[in-house]
Amino acid sequence: MTRPAYPCTQCNDLFFVYRDLENHMRNIHKLIKTWKCKKCLQSFRGVDAFDRHIEYDHNDVPLYSMGLAMSDVARQLKEMNS
Ligand SMILES: [Zn+2]
Ligand SMILES: [Zn+2]
Repeated sequence: MTRPAYPCTQCNDLFFVYRDLENHMRNIHKLIKTWKCKKCLQSFRGVDAFDRHIEYDHNDVPLYSMGLAMSDVARQLKEMNS
C-alpha cells in the first residue's frame, strides 16, 4: 500500500489524515506546529489557521485542498523557511 500515513513523532501513533495528526499533537502532546507563509512571511499556529490564511488573504489553494502527501508538505515547508 502506498497510502500516506503520518506517524506521531512523540508516541508513534499512526494517522492517515494529516489533520488528525495535528489534532492529536495538540490535544495529547500540547504541541502546535507553526506554519510560515512564504508569500507574506506571517507565522500561524496550526495548519487550520494557515490554510484559512492562504485561502482568504492570498486567494490561493490551501494545502489540504491540494491533498498533498507528507513529502510534498515537507518540501513546501522547506521552501517557505528558506
Ligand atoms: Zn502522539
Ligand atoms: Zn501570507
